[in-house]
Amino acid sequence: MKVFVVNCGSSSIKYQLFEMADESVLAKGLLERIGTSEAVLHHSAGGQRHDSPVEAPDHSAGLGLILEAVTDSRIGVLANLDEIDCVGHRVVHGGEHIHQSALIDEAIIAVVRANAELAPLHNPPNLAGITAAMSALPKIPHVAVFDTAFLADLPARAFRYALPKDWYSQYHVRRYGFHGTSHQCVTLRAAELLGASTEKVNLITVHLGNGCSMTAVAGGKAVDHSMGLTPLEGLVMGTRCGDIDPAVVFYMARRAGLSLEDLDRILNKESGLLGVSGVSNDMRDCLTAADDGNADAALAVELFVYRIVKYIGAYFTVLPGCDAVVLTGGIGENSLPIRRRICQGLRRLGAVADEERNKIIVGGKTGPITTDDSPLPVWVIPTDEELMIARETQAVVEK
Ligand code: AMP
Repeated sequence: MKVFVVNCGSSSIKYQLFEMADESVLAKGLLERIGTSEAVLHHSAGGQRHDSPVEAPDHSAGLGLILEAVTDSRIGVLANLDEIDCVGHRVVHGGEHIHQSALIDEAIIAVVRANAELAPLHNPPNLAGITAAMSALPKIPHVAVFDTAFLADLPARAFRYALPKDWYSQYHVRRYGFHGTSHQCVTLRAAELLGASTEKVNLITVHLGNGCSMTAVAGGKAVDHSMGLTPLEGLVMGTRCGDIDPAVVFYMARRAGLSLEDLDRILNKESGLLGVSGVSNDMRDCLTAADDGNADAALAVELFVYRIVKYIGAYFTVLPGCDAVVLTGGIGENSLPIRRRICQGLRRLGAVADEERNKIIVGGKTGPITTDDSPLPVWVIPTDEELMIARETQAVVEK
């Protein structure tokens, strides 16, 4: 079975074509800067990468270009589009009632649309991708894989906020959580690697990319999570503040005359590593600046690690046990200094760092970065959201 996976952002489309017989990637790529005069298609197939400037005024045109590349006689891998059996779509927000991946029909489209208010940056482009792909490939099944699904069964004590009841019953204000596909992916892989059954594994999974989130996993199921109603809550991120006192918002509105739009933009796009360091939202830049003596960058890195360690401590206490802490995402998979600091912060919980392993397990490698006899193992497990979406899509279609 050939599964085409589509992940649409506001100005980008990421894609991968899988042969599910051996889960190999036949082609993959990224179309970025959709809607601008600088749109570029990065397409890889057969070990070759092709970067070409393209005209992609919208997602529909963009998807057309991607499908052309996939079937191109020179850089493509398919003779024609009929070889694609089904399409898996990443959808960020499935709201409260979606607990699993689903075949896309009018009802699912309505769910994606209805939840756009809760994920205004993500659901509208996801929907644009679905519409474009369904019109380009109308004869095959399309499946929605929701980022919120793995987190949809959190207990009420973890998903409810201590706010008036009708904010929840009428306005659906609750913790939804995000990055669920990534947390599920590393949970399944960790169970396999630790030789535990998925139903028995207890983990703290930590996704550290541009967005950062953490999940407490008990018996293979998510029981708490750091992101909330939106992806703003929780850990310090590239440009998002994570946890703050909500009163900061009223205070700054009054003191600095900021509008709701200003506050939304500042907390989501001008805070986090970028806001504190004044240097960059990219961890590599912050670490370099900190090494060069920039005190703000050093503080940004310290805040980032401190929040992670603090959350792990909290999750450790609510779990029935913890077989491992799992680090993933661009920073979790690659950043030696950040991983070293996290392990140091977890010493009291029993993590015994292994510096040699920390040096070796980078660039897509999997393994522990603690010693074999570390009471609390810390593992690095690369996430593969696209493969997870492909597997889910295959499972839904075969059912
Ligand atoms: P992601 O959103 O998963 O692509 O992760 C992006 C983040 O990963 C950025 O903050 C990057 O600085 C960070 N990152 C990627 N590669 C490295 C690396 N080799 N060392 C440190 N951070 C990295």
